[in-house]
Amino acid sequence: MDRVSVKLGSDSYDIIVGQNITEHLESLYKEVGNFSKIAIISDLNVSRLYLGKIKKNLSISEVSVCSLEISDGEGTKDWNNLKFIVEWLIKNKLDRDGLIIALGGGVIGDLVGFAASITKRGISLVQMPTTLLSQVDSSVGGKTAINSVSGKNLIGTFFQPKMVLTEINTLNSLTERHFLSGMGEVIKYGLISDKTFFSWIEKNIQQIKVRNPHIISEMILKSCKIKAKIVEKDEKEKGSRALLNLGHTFGHALEAFTGYSNTLLHGEAVAIGTVLAFRFSEFLKKGSSVDIERVTSVYFKLGMKHRLKDIPAPLPNIPTLLDFMLQDKKIKNDRLVFILPTRLGHCIIDDQISMQTLHSFLERCL
Ligand code: NAD
Ligand code: MG
Repeated sequence: MDRVSVKLGSDSYDIIVGQNITEHLESLYKEVGNFSKIAIISDLNVSRLYLGKIKKNLSISEVSVCSLEISDGEGTKDWNNLKFIVEWLIKNKLDRDGLIIALGGGVIGDLVGFAASITKRGISLVQMPTTLLSQVDSSVGGKTAINSVSGKNLIGTFFQPKMVLTEINTLNSLTERHFLSGMGEVIKYGLISDKTFFSWIEKNIQQIKVRNPHIISEMILKSCKIKAKIVEKDEKEKGSRALLNLGHTFGHALEAFTGYSNTLLHGEAVAIGTVLAFRFSEFLKKGSSVDIERVTSVYFKLGMKHRLKDIPAPLPNIPTLLDFMLQDKKIKNDRLVFILPTRLGHCIIDDQISMQTLHSFLERCL
């Protein structure tokens, strides 16, 4: 078992990464408090695979355990499910001395994290992420959210978990497509802040593809370390945390265009958006084409979607894509915020790009 600490003063916590850690569940959650009651909330796919074992491992202690299963998918992150969970927690008498475990991917983590943050003004939360994307990204950093009819993740809180328990064996049951979607965020970490990590990924592509547990564990730890460092410096995204949005300005627009559906998963949109960000940087004479080659080669070798033509749907026209881009949360004084790679492992935040420049660039792409 390995640990990464996220240092946020009194909201600090550890991310624990390993195999078979669920067998030590009791001693692990006891590190963060003595709880009278534990509520585990999961989606139907994940609970079918893992809930029984987790409940069994918890039943040896005196704590009372209850569980709730909800449907899976992005559509679950809505007001109805938030209300349902909060009312269920209240009915089941989860008090401030209780603990909520969010067991699942980013959808469960975001939704249950939000419910935990508002029920009785905050109940302790442990994240147990089960997808690669949630293990390297959404479970770390305390962003919780549901979607509004006007857009994704527009309603939410900052609420740090007390601990993140990452059981890497859960990745064995994850589909290839969702695994590769998580790789979109992993590769992003190398590109924004650590060229050595990017080179490590290049070198280990085959082992990553076969999900060698030692390599996967190292990869998750490194990703969490990079995210933790960025979050420690700028927890509420007033500045440098925005670097984590490399590929997201284009990516979110493509996700919105495809209706946040199975047509394009988040990490797939991030990979396609990252290539666009590299190309935009080159267009603006801030980045180099040699770097683009290296990045696209990694996506290609891993078998990841990374080009606009990889989206299994007709492409939007420029005005439509621009409309979707302008709905982004990250707009500052009516200007879009772009994360632009200047070289591998280094990006800048640029909010001074005119719509005309962006339009000329998109003419080349679409
Ligand atoms: P997800 O939670 O929808 O999970 C993907 C699918 O895999 C689901 O059908 C789920 O039931 C299934 N699944 C989960 N774990 C499994 C396992 N071990 N084996 C088999 N099937 C499993 O998707 P995701 O990609 O984990 O998360 C996406 C969500 O995360 C989005 O809503 C996004 O907005 C959010 N997100 C949040 C943050 C943040 O900082 N809070 C960061 C990135 C993404
Ligand atoms: Mg993301």
